[in-house]
Amino acid sequence: MHLAKLHDSPEIFHTLQGEGPSAGSPAVFIRASRCNLHCVWCDSDCTWNFEGTPWPHENDALPGTAKHRQSAVTCELDPAAAARLVLAFNCPRVVITGGEPLLQESGFLEMIQQIRAAQPDCVFEVETNATRTPSADFAAAVDQFNVSPKLSNSGVAESLRLVPDALRFFAHSPKTWFKFVVANPADIAEILTLRSRFGIPHERILLMPAARNTADLDRRAPWLAGICRDLGWRFCDRLHIRLWGERRGV
Ligand code: SF4
Repeated sequence: MHLAKLHDSPEIFHTLQGEGPSAGSPAVFIRASRCNLHCVWCDSDCTWNFEGTPWPHENDALPGTAKHRQSAVTCELDPAAAARLVLAFNCPRVVITGGEPLLQESGFLEMIQQIRAAQPDCVFEVETNATRTPSADFAAAVDQFNVSPKLSNSGVAESLRLVPDALRFFAHSPKTWFKFVVANPADIAEILTLRSRFGIPHERILLMPAARNTADLDRRAPWLAGICRDLGWRFCDRLHIRLWGERRGV
């Protein structure tokens, strides 16, 4: 499997889930490298924003930042080795994130099966951009999909970020929660359109402020919380940013 690499090790770490319905729960995170989308504000661009790639990212123009050298931020690991590293934390929840984990579905399915054989009560969450429909075996093995369809604020063409068959699959799965990253009022109208178009269950929608630091969170959260109250949707904070800022691997 292609995994993100941090401090010369695969990015597998024990932390608290920072977002979504299980926020606050202890979890082991494992970060897939590679994504089929290239959001301009992606906070995990180490998984795809490599030197020599053409996709723009808002960090590219910042002083002191540059696209990532692929060999410095990516490593290869087989599913059995990944399972051993995850099991070493003896944690009942695993979050497979990315990048886009569904690009490497077979490897992650093998990893899940090996972890579950040793730890049958382990709960698996998968974070996905909902552009791939999971196989029946993978969907059965996963306990919760944290689905984050991308809006036009991502800078990605609609033809790439909205895949109707995949979105309808997730909308009909009782394992799915939809988490939308909201930056401005126009995003709300877009979400309402997506909800109608793909039949997204009202009670499974969470709105999360677009934020990379606590200042952004504090600025957008009160406004977005009011919208959640008025529309009857759940508000989703970013606990990990409040606790650890932009640091990776914690
Ligand atoms: S889909 Fe997610 S991982 Fe992929 S570029 Fe967008 S924010 Fe980053």
